[in-house]
Amino acid sequence: MGKILDEKHKQILLEGARNNQLILAVPCPGNCKFCYEKSLNKTFRNVVTEVIPKYTKESFDFLLQHLSDKLSLLSPSSGFVFARQKIRQRGGADFFHLGLTKEQIIKVMELNKKRYVRGQMYIYTTGFKVDPFFVKELSEKYAQFVEICLSAVTFNEKIKRELMTNYGKNEVLKRIIKHVRKLTVVLFHFNKEQTLLDLREINHLKPRGADVIIVKLYYSKFDELLVKKYAEKSYMDVKETVLFIYKNRNLFENINRIFLTPDSKIYAWTFQHKLRDILSKYDFRNNEFMFCSEGAYSELRKILKGKKVRVIPIKSPCGGSIDDAATITTNEIISKIKELKLQNIKISKLYLPSSMYWIHDISYRDTDIYDLRGKTKGEIKRLFPNIVLEMIALGDLGEGPLDLEDCYKYYLYEHN
Ligand code: SF4
Repeated sequence: MGKILDEKHKQILLEGARNNQLILAVPCPGNCKFCYEKSLNKTFRNVVTEVIPKYTKESFDFLLQHLSDKLSLLSPSSGFVFARQKIRQRGGADFFHLGLTKEQIIKVMELNKKRYVRGQMYIYTTGFKVDPFFVKELSEKYAQFVEICLSAVTFNEKIKRELMTNYGKNEVLKRIIKHVRKLTVVLFHFNKEQTLLDLREINHLKPRGADVIIVKLYYSKFDELLVKKYAEKSYMDVKETVLFIYKNRNLFENINRIFLTPDSKIYAWTFQHKLRDILSKYDFRNNEFMFCSEGAYSELRKILKGKKVRVIPIKSPCGGSIDDAATITTNEIISKIKELKLQNIKISKLYLPSSMYWIHDISYRDTDIYDLRGKTKGEIKRLFPNIVLEMIALGDLGEGPLDLEDCYKYYLYEHN
């Protein structure tokens, strides 16, 4: 007689089945000290890390039995949802550490093969205790829809020992990079020397069409000193590193594309034309304000120079080097409005970036979108009914990594 599933677990599985999601068992085995998920619930008390049991025969069969018949791929799902009055955080997790057997993983793939119409199934792994040849088999047999993303972080074992609990051994990472087709390798930028060594290592392996994403380290006020130390070092020479890689791209000719996740100010600069188009449709008047992230502030001021609207940067409550709009919440907006009102400053209209509200309700039927405190813009309207609130629709502008060339152009512009 198999293990009885408890009600809470059944609810999570049913939620996954409804949305064709293989909800990931968390926490992620990497347990990286620099993982932004680690400190998020220290800043945002309403964020709870949802502990989801690993799949068993019973829970896996239960999920498949209740799978919606929608023709979309059954895909790993992580991220954030609003449910039961909380922001439920479902970590990055590792597809090969969900408790699924190889047979069960093949069952998911075969099901997706039958269902395939369009879309991709992104499989994230740290390479920790992973069979590289099984990964190769999946990437070839299900090439139509499978994309493997390897969070390699670095080949420097000393750094990995310092910052991660579990990580892919270098020989496993190298086998995956050498053999798996259409792979995305995620490296973290610790310093110029290490990033160049890591890129050379990948280039030397002659990967089969691999892209590399270089992630610049951030830290929040709650991160430990070690992470802060690495993040500040990462910040210091990221420009030099980008300029070197771009000018010596031939040294990495076996790497398909190189991307970077830079500061939000580089995103704002790179997308300035799109931002200008979006903002050109507004007829700004007196007593109108635009609140934005610290990262986007200098670019928005330039774009809106001479316009009547006042641009005001809002500091992310995460502190540290975090300066994006996704961590600004309703609370920070309300505090700033109160601060301006105390100075007898009249606010008739307030513009906010749509990227502040990005978390959907679990049912996806609820049209409200929440911030990291589980609040909606409705709260601002309720407290300040005389202020007209306008969300600036940014869509997915600034989401995802930037092409190396975009970052190179920014640093060139910054240089002149
Ligand atoms: S591998 Fe990624 S998701 Fe997992 S703990 Fe590390 S940074 Fe977080």
